[in-house]
Amino acid sequence: MGIGILGGTFDPVHLGHLLAAESAREALGLERVLFMPAGQPWLKAYRGLTPGRHRLRMVELAVADNPAFQAARHEIDRPGPTYSVDTLEALRAELGPGVPLHLILGQDALAEFHRWRSPERVLELCRLAVVPRPGQEASEWLELFTRNSLPAGQVTLLAPGLTGPQVDISGTGIRRRVAEGRSIRYQVTNPVAEYIREHRLYQSATP
Ligand code: ATP
Ligand code: MG
Repeated sequence: MGIGILGGTFDPVHLGHLLAAESAREALGLERVLFMPAGQPWLKAYRGLTPGRHRLRMVELAVADNPAFQAARHEIDRPGPTYSVDTLEALRAELGPGVPLHLILGQDALAEFHRWRSPERVLELCRLAVVPRPGQEASEWLELFTRNSLPAGQVTLLAPGLTGPQVDISGTGIRRRVAEGRSIRYQVTNPVAEYIREHRLYQSATP
């Protein structure tokens, strides 16, 4: 029971996101996973993001065949920076107090957790579910816990080996490949690849 939330810029959404969401769904027995594209996240304000309507549309295409996955527009519709704490407050108000919320994070996103707005409130509103991301050592997990002063009971570690496979796919890598005219087949779903082609996204490399 419960609802998972996978936040991100989704520029673009890729197989790494889908596998992480599916691992969390299965491990936690989630009813649904919401894919929540960010509006203009403050941590990434330094780089030009693809307009929200494209990022949202690609998420819609990627999850269309899975009734347990859903695109959510809470953040994308808001002007200016959005904070997870505000999104979680809105979801909590919408769903009522009884529904467990699980914020799904890649290991790299957990490393930034101490820089978030109101991390203590975030931990009151939801539990964190952390998925491993290739390239990060298992030994770093303990350090992340300490640095973020995370109460163990509020965090589920979907440890490598216990859940699904991990893939070393990233939005950055995909944008670079498209700009270089290389293949992104099997890194994104076919409808997403088609959308990127049709709208000529990522033609020039972003930093
Ligand atoms: P970028 O390279 O632009 O940062 P990204 O691939 O990291 O793109 P995000 O939208 O930043 O994608 O990530 C959203 C969430 O999904 C984060 O919590 C991130 O850790 C997680 N995530 C992204 N890719 C993977 C992956 N390959 N495996 C596991 N988790 C992932
Ligand atoms: Mg990222």
